[in-house]
Amino acid sequence: MAAVDLIIFGASGDLSARKLFPALFQLERLNLLQKDLRIAAVARTKQTLDEFLPVLKGKMASYMGDDAPSDDEWASFTQRFSYVAVNFSEPDEYGELREWLDDERVSLFYFATPPSLFAPICEHLSTTNCLAGDCRIVVEKPIGENLESSINVNEALSRYFDEKAIYRIDHYLGKETVQNLLVLRFANSFINSQWDNTCIDHVQITVGEMVGIEGRWSYYDKVGQLRDMVQNHLMQLMCLVAMEPPNSLEAESIRDEKVKIVRALRRIDSQSVNEKVVRGQYINGWIRGTAVPGYLDEDGCEMDSSDTETYIAIKAHIDNWRWSGVPFYLRTGKRLPEKVTEIVIQYKSLPHNIFGNGANIPNKLVIRLQPNEGIELSMVSKKQSLKERMSLQSHLLDLDFREGSDLDRIPDAYERLFLDAIQGDQSLFVGREEIEESWRWCDQLIEACKEQQVPALPYQAGAWGPAKAEVLIEKDFRSWHV
Ligand code: NDP
Repeated sequence: MAAVDLIIFGASGDLSARKLFPALFQLERLNLLQKDLRIAAVARTKQTLDEFLPVLKGKMASYMGDDAPSDDEWASFTQRFSYVAVNFSEPDEYGELREWLDDERVSLFYFATPPSLFAPICEHLSTTNCLAGDCRIVVEKPIGENLESSINVNEALSRYFDEKAIYRIDHYLGKETVQNLLVLRFANSFINSQWDNTCIDHVQITVGEMVGIEGRWSYYDKVGQLRDMVQNHLMQLMCLVAMEPPNSLEAESIRDEKVKIVRALRRIDSQSVNEKVVRGQYINGWIRGTAVPGYLDEDGCEMDSSDTETYIAIKAHIDNWRWSGVPFYLRTGKRLPEKVTEIVIQYKSLPHNIFGNGANIPNKLVIRLQPNEGIELSMVSKKQSLKERMSLQSHLLDLDFREGSDLDRIPDAYERLFLDAIQGDQSLFVGREEIEESWRWCDQLIEACKEQQVPALPYQAGAWGPAKAEVLIEKDFRSWHV
């Protein structure tokens, strides 16, 4: 494999300290980084490496806790580092970076910057001859805020980079459990053969956050939960659950199958939006015994009212042979009672019950991304008893990923994604078509909400969204898993 250099734009930012450098450090600790891999931390502040590193070390320690690097580990890790000060908007400031780059090696540019800077950085890298060698870029979400702007961002990137050199992050795809979902589906014959509308009653995907706006009110109020979470994370999870088997693990094969799912998603228009979508906005309440403010009382809010949703539940349908008649219930929100990301596959009840009242308990497969990544299958068995003739009970078959693992912890998604980007494997990164098709679907839904004035209903912080979200699923004689 060619030698790789990693150039992190936005190295002084929150994402870098919280996720990127800790992930790189864990790879270093596991000896998984190439010996000669160099890291350039690029940010605006004019400072030396010796000034940059202690600040980074302090921030990483606060995020990593007991896992933080020891002094020896830190000294060895940071030997790879250089610090380069660049104002990304100023082409005149790229000279030092140009000198640092080595065209004989692969340059992996990681854009941990506001998305508005993606296009200018590409342009300035090009005009200052920083793209002379073999280059790749990694870009963070969001790619646009609607179809039109996502096309603009993608067009800007594609002016300088081939699609095969663009790595769009959706960090959910780097999670162990998500990769395990592919293995579960495509390496287990009994699951694979039961994965369609003949066996599955419905699917639920929940992404619950306990946090509120975290100081980002003015950004968030323009975005809302649909654009922030559904368009990317929930859509990606739905695609992996619903896609047909790809013919290989190559990025192209997987992306082709995922994009077919987004195209098959039934559009939610103004005729159906009231029946299929519930929007919400949190008011003050309690989470785990702590009083928390409502959305309009959060720091940074200067408005008396806002129609932005902090919660959304959607009943979606995939119009294809496999999933005809199987609803996908999606929900995500802020200030919910738990931080949870899970996919629930609810199997159908058996056609006839021979065991008596209450014994027809359908199987349920729960794929949990957080907390406690893992997979559980609920099965029914006979209770061992002489007193009770035939009493049934539900058991959980629990797949513990740690068994047989070469790690004593579940790796963070960014560790996998860094390794793949370094090795040139795009299969866990999102393709252009998927993003644009997803925006097309979301834009139509947003338009329908506007046309029908679907309100953001109040829900108390610490509740599972507005009561109407319960009705959305209960009117179909089903209920949310948690
Ligand atoms: P921050 O605002 O914390 O950091 C932005 C970084 O970009 C800083 O290093 C900042 O440098 C630098 N920067 C901004 N403008 C310029 C400029 N003109 N010239 C040079 N440097 C500049 O943002 P985050 O780290 O939170 O987010 C970065 C990206 O990652 C965003 O696209 C965000 O949406 C995405 N993201 C973030 C997540 C997170 O957990 N934080 C999660 C998922 C995605 P300086 O300090 O000098 O201003």
